[in-house]
Amino acid sequence: MSARDAAWWRDRAATLAIRGQAYIDGAYCDAADGSTFPAASPIDGRKLADVAACGPADVDRAVAAARRAFEAGVWSGLAPRQRKERLLRLAALIETHQDELALLETLDMGKPIRDALAFDLPETARCYAWYAEAIDKIYDEIAPTGPDALATITREALGVVAAVVPWNYPLMMAAWKVAPALAAGNSVILKPAEQASLSAIRLAALAEQAGIPPGVFNVVPGLGAVAGQALGLHPDVDCIAFTGSTATGKRFMEYSGQSNLKRVWLECGGKSPHIVFDDCPDLDRAAQAAALAIFSNQGEVCIAGSRLYVQDGIYDAFMDTVAACAATLQPGDPLDPATAMGAMVDERQMRGVLDRIAAGKAEGASLRLGGGQARGATGGYYIEPTIFDCASQDSSLVREEIFGPVLAAQRFSTEDDAIRLANDSVYGLGAGLWTANLSRAHRLSRRLRAGLVWVNCYADGDISVPFGGVKQSGFGRDKSLHALDKYSDLKTTWVSLAV
Ligand code: NAD
Repeated sequence: MSARDAAWWRDRAATLAIRGQAYIDGAYCDAADGSTFPAASPIDGRKLADVAACGPADVDRAVAAARRAFEAGVWSGLAPRQRKERLLRLAALIETHQDELALLETLDMGKPIRDALAFDLPETARCYAWYAEAIDKIYDEIAPTGPDALATITREALGVVAAVVPWNYPLMMAAWKVAPALAAGNSVILKPAEQASLSAIRLAALAEQAGIPPGVFNVVPGLGAVAGQALGLHPDVDCIAFTGSTATGKRFMEYSGQSNLKRVWLECGGKSPHIVFDDCPDLDRAAQAAALAIFSNQGEVCIAGSRLYVQDGIYDAFMDTVAACAATLQPGDPLDPATAMGAMVDERQMRGVLDRIAAGKAEGASLRLGGGQARGATGGYYIEPTIFDCASQDSSLVREEIFGPVLAAQRFSTEDDAIRLANDSVYGLGAGLWTANLSRAHRLSRRLRAGLVWVNCYADGDISVPFGGVKQSGFGRDKSLHALDKYSDLKTTWVSLAV
């Protein structure tokens, strides 16, 4: 077998049959009005496919199919064991097709093929398998009401769930919602982000092959303000499971209020603090983690450790090490398995990040590393790993989510200082801290306003633990058994035993 180098992946890419159609009611189809939008690869700007730009008519059709399937019980009425078998089949199919799916992710959104293969695909398959395995092990409840009544508390699927997801981990973000929603018995409509729809479209065929009945899983690609909005406002969608920006999350709350008060679950933006105390047990490891926390996936990560707070005494030496680690993460060809940092998702995202870098400089932040576009001759969209030393918490680099490879570093002196700075954000998604002091670790973990806290590591996790934020990072949790609560309602049935 030839080495799986960039040339090998390019050959593979040349033979890929890329599909851009919607998948509604068990069949691929064009948008009702024939509209499309181009999917271009951020690797080199080349067009990959024309993607169906679904509109309200397509959304209506998908919702009607999903509702029909739900009411017919072809999925919702199966025994949990039967849903489990098919979801396990889907997980196995994702594994079998992992090269193809990883390649689609890399071509479509620019992440390194190495990361897609080592992380996105295994995590996606595991997520479907995990909810499949969980769903036939969950019992309902009988309330302790006394001898004259029997009160059962049963979980019921909601009906039609729409998952609206972003482009940074297209398959994995979708899996975090689709897997528990399907496992719980719902019909699902997946709306991928317009910047990276191709893997979701391919997933539909695998779901069909796995035996998920027509109408139970639908994919409606399209623009957020059109297809996303149509789902948000639809009177027959029971639940929106959203991951994306805080601004769009707020819109979904409005859509719900304007329509049928559908449940809305939001996983939104972040500006996560990463705190390093001078008693950190392993400064080299912490520096490496600080670099990876912001530069992996090109910084296009909701939990990116984009604010680094380092205690006074170690600041200069520590930041030198972070910069040295970052310098080894220069952007390269995403199809080269040696590449650790790929392309930004599209030109708009790249320009937006470069504008934020320019604004930071203009505000007086001191540029320590990077700051520029890279690999411009490829026609793709790359940015150097960029580090700023910020003197002020008011810098836009510290306050705003950039969603790119830009780190804002600051000093702090005391524990109270660190907490004040870390919590001074509208977001509350992740937070990391490095210390050898066990009491301090627990004390600060309690004081940090974040849904996820990492001690002496960053971004570690597992499908078994909840993921999500507080404040304007959203509410509700993906992953773990708790995610199932989002996709079912509790029903109380009170049976009098007195007659
Ligand atoms: P986005 O909000 O622009 O888009 C997300 C999804 O919403 C896409 O499918 C998009 O088409 C749709 N959408 C956009 N505008 C819409 C509208 N007006 N009405 C209805 N739907 C609309 O976000 P993005 O740029 O794709 O993703 C980046 C954001 O996602 C960042 O803020 C990041 O922090 C966040 N994110 C959060 C998590 C998390 O778990 N908290 C994970 C990944 C990404």
